[in-house]
Amino acid sequence: SKPIVAVVGRPNVGKSTLFNVLAGRKISIVKDTPGVTRDRIYADVTWLDKQFTMVDTGGIEPESKDLILSSMREQAEIAIATADVILFVTDVQQGVIDADYKVADMLRRSGKPIVLAVNKVDSFKKYEADIYEFYNLGIGDPYGISAASQLGLGDLLDEVVKHF
Ligand code: GDP
Ligand code: MG
Repeated sequence: SKPIVAVVGRPNVGKSTLFNVLAGRKISIVKDTPGVTRDRIYADVTWLDKQFTMVDTGGIEPESKDLILSSMREQAEIAIATADVILFVTDVQQGVIDADYKVADMLRRSGKPIVLAVNKVDSFKKYEADIYEFYNLGIGDPYGISAASQLGLGDLLDEVVKHF
């Protein structure tokens, strides 16, 4: 079966936007049994000669700030358990927040390959300097992308499929 790429990141960083762009129309939403309440979103992605399944571990995302960290921990646990590669999505316009550091630590300790995407780099010129802050997460090179404007996605996908 295809490698699994799990997408982790706090609400509003652009995970769903990235999904839609990469998956075209091939997104399926699978609702788990009520009570276990978690929606997982799967997308089949083809990049060059490689195929993988992208999973949005976010499901229904919390609106309350208090719940964001616990929700991200849960996402990270699912990603660590199921993924071949973890795609950690962050937001250049919000910068690195505390929850990002905590989740980065969890992910790093798992030993799984992690690719760090810094989304909302709508203008490379404007945000280039801000991308460097994301090196502080300690998970390697940040890939500046704009899911909305479809910028930087080729380099990001090249890095993802390297780990298969
Ligand atoms: P999710 O909660 O992580 O799934 O994030 P969404 O995909 O729902 O996006 C949250 C918001 O960020 C929406 O208003 C998107 O239009 C916006 N967004 C997503 N990608 C980009 C981007 O590359 N640049 C900018 N400026 N906004 C973006
Ligand atoms: Mg979403």
